[in-house]
Amino acid sequence: MNQEFDYIIAGAGAAGLSLALYILEEPTLKEKRILILDKYIKNSNDRTWCFWQRESSPFDQILHASWDELYFHSPGFSTVLEIQPYRYKMLRSRDFYEFCLDKIKESKNINFVQEDIKEINADGTVVCQTQTFKGKFVFNSAFVSIPKTTGKHHLQQHFTGWFVKSPEPVFDPKRPILMDFRIDQKGDCRFMYVLPKNEYLALVEYTIFSDSLLEEKEYKTALETYCREVLKLDSYEIEETEYGVIPMTNEPIPKTQSGNVINIGTAGGHTKASTGYTFAFIQKKCRKIAANLAKNKNPLDGLDSKFDKYLLYDSIFLRVLSEKNFPAWRVFSELFEKLPPKTVFDFLDENTNLLTDIKVMNSTHIPTFLKAALKEVF
Ligand SMILES: Cc1cc2nc3c(=O)[nH]c(=O)nc-3n(C[C@H](O)[C@H](O)[C@H](O)COP(=O)(O)OP(=O)(O)OC[C@H]3O[C@@H](n4cnc5c(N)ncnc54)[C@H](O)[C@@H]3O)c2cc1C
Repeated sequence: MNQEFDYIIAGAGAAGLSLALYILEEPTLKEKRILILDKYIKNSNDRTWCFWQRESSPFDQILHASWDELYFHSPGFSTVLEIQPYRYKMLRSRDFYEFCLDKIKESKNINFVQEDIKEINADGTVVCQTQTFKGKFVFNSAFVSIPKTTGKHHLQQHFTGWFVKSPEPVFDPKRPILMDFRIDQKGDCRFMYVLPKNEYLALVEYTIFSDSLLEEKEYKTALETYCREVLKLDSYEIEETEYGVIPMTNEPIPKTQSGNVINIGTAGGHTKASTGYTFAFIQKKCRKIAANLAKNKNPLDGLDSKFDKYLLYDSIFLRVLSEKNFPAWRVFSELFEKLPPKTVFDFLDENTNLLTDIKVMNSTHIPTFLKAALKEVF
């Protein structure tokens, strides 16, 4: 194989494969020679992605499930969120990998090679276990490097999920539970998340926003208690489990390693710092990168602003979470109690004007957020 390529996509996960698909959709990029590298062949169900989205996506045809209503529960407040024009979508990674790799196999200009990448150099050289390649542009999602600057917030979203199968019809397949805060908070932000496939099968996930991870048995105990006491499950089978840790940080994550090595996905800071949601941001950003390439522009054109108001808002929320002076469940509760769900999702989707931002801020506990904002700014 010729070792020189127009684009090397280092890492065939959510970002790498999404970018490959968006590049394939661009007629002017049909002749580009593209190499995708990953150390795994990508055929396992290593994660389940959920995200809200207004627009359609190439993955709509392979969704595991999707909904337009969600439950929200906290102590003293429960509601059904009608989230139109958004839909909440659930996509299993195995289906995503298979779908993308099939499209890649169909196209002549793109190759997938299983290799362990050892290093990516600023000149676009990618050194692997057995071969070295060179790309005019390298899109890296394989190596995630998050700086640890003093004064920045470094929380983590960590979770264990069980695919629970019940012999009785107990789940409401029309409505997942986005957040259920009616559990012991233990001084953190902790909630349960329930994604029903049908009345008998659901992914039940225990999620925590905090600075340190738990022992494995703590996730297990919390899930058992919730299944028994809240979901009223007397007996059930655990079909699959998932565990994940997602960074929640306001560190400025470098978008490039050099002009032609571009970081994408978690490595490129596509994770929303205040929620950990990444998949939908990956879609927006990778689609834009492909469009820029098609127009012969800098891949990051329009993606790398000097001042990002949402990063400031996220930083303020991370400070409120870190300082623990105000319970996080009340923040979410007040948002969903006082605002239409669409406004909350627009805001979290980074799609609001200043007037809406002010409405969102007004629905929070002003003294807590004002104090945190002043500390962030000064
Ligand atoms: C369990 C889990 C569940 C998640 N659920 C959600 C969710 O519901 N919604 C949401 O928005 N976000 C979610 N996320 C966060 C985020 O969307 C995912 O982590 C997403 O996969 C990030 O995409 P990525 O392409 O940046 O990284 P990955 O998908 O992890 O892709 C990186 C790729 O690089 C490859 N790689 C790494 N090192 C090397 C090497 N040395 N050589 C070659 N290849 C290498 C890996 O094999 C992998 O394929 C979840 C994360 C996890 C871990």
